[in-house]
Amino acid sequence: MSDGILVINAGSSSSKFSVYVSDNGDEPQLSCKGQIEGIGVAPCFVARSPDGALLGEHRWAASADRKSLLAYLLGWIEHHLGDAELKVAGHRVVHGGRLYAAPVLVDDAVMEELVRLIPLAPLHQPHNLAPIQALAQLHPGLPQVACFDTAFHRSNDMLATTFALPRWLIDEGVQRYGFHGLSYEYIAQRLRQIAPEVASGRVVVCHLGSGASMCAIKDGRSVASTMGFTALDGLPMGTRTGQLDAGVILYLLQEKQMTAKEIETLLYHKSGLLGLSGVSNDMRVLMDSNDPHAREAVDYFIYRIGRELGSLSAAMGGLDAVVFTAGIGERSPEIRAGVLDQAAWLGLDCDGTANLAGQTRISSATARCSAWVIPTDEELMIATHTRDLMKSRLVVA
Ligand code: ADP
Repeated sequence: MSDGILVINAGSSSSKFSVYVSDNGDEPQLSCKGQIEGIGVAPCFVARSPDGALLGEHRWAASADRKSLLAYLLGWIEHHLGDAELKVAGHRVVHGGRLYAAPVLVDDAVMEELVRLIPLAPLHQPHNLAPIQALAQLHPGLPQVACFDTAFHRSNDMLATTFALPRWLIDEGVQRYGFHGLSYEYIAQRLRQIAPEVASGRVVVCHLGSGASMCAIKDGRSVASTMGFTALDGLPMGTRTGQLDAGVILYLLQEKQMTAKEIETLLYHKSGLLGLSGVSNDMRVLMDSNDPHAREAVDYFIYRIGRELGSLSAAMGGLDAVVFTAGIGERSPEIRAGVLDQAAWLGLDCDGTANLAGQTRISSATARCSAWVIPTDEELMIATHTRDLMKSRLVVA
């Protein structure tokens, strides 16, 4: 019997989806994936097969609301699945707070908790929760599972998660949570399959996409990461600052009379690679540009990765391996070589040929620390968690 698993990764103006099929609870197999873009403007639905062939396309007038978009998606998926039945939906939810260290089946009480976390991630959490609420109305019998970007980092100890703030703020939940956890968890599992002896050591994973962060993973468990209270800290990103002296915010407020909203826009949407280069937030464009500020932005990105690599290695008492993943990490030999060359002092040594060829292992045979390129798959991680949770419910029942 084939079960359909719908995976939703919802953002403010677009929702990505993937549909997996699991036969008798086996490993989920990707059946199709796509997205609805332009939500609130001119929504457009596209679905593709795993090899990229177009399976479906649809456009709406701007007035279409999220619920009717989701209703269309559900109808399309049911038709696409044929004999298989849609059994469960798994969602990427950015924040699970202190409570959730693992995925959870969403019921009214869980939803109440997740809504309570909105102030901790106001730009993401509401968009993640909206399709869960809409699906509950459209398909009341469909179990829904929330998978959290923060959950993998719940293993971080108090020293790694604490800011030196007065206790009352800490008690309110102002601490480092860390994000991109589904990606790190996937990479930790893949590394255990590819190189088990490496996976049981001290590994730093560099998730370098439009959003970028790094995570120290010791024997498969997250020890520390570069993102903090929000997904703004750590590495510079496409349009986000990364690490910033909090005094700069006071300066913007007091000397520049900027409002909180203006500062939010500056830090989230106008900074990072875009702000520094004045050219683009896209790494490919920067690398092709002759503008000296574009080169500076690329150099700063590599430099910050190097600084964080030292810090995360210190948190683990040393380093055995580095893994590159996500858009830039998986596809840019130049950035990988830049990071590895700069970190030669840690025992890293890039094998230029393997790196250019995009091989899985890109360190030289004599390097004390190995280096790897492993494509991430957050959607598969969500589908697997969702399948596991449904299986465990059947066992309990
Ligand atoms: P997201 O965080 O949106 O999922 P991705 O993981 O897709 O982002 O990464 C997007 C980033 O990857 C962009 O900055 C893009 O320029 C960069 N990228 C994609 N391909 C390459 C490449 N061949 N070389 C350098 N950067 C690349």
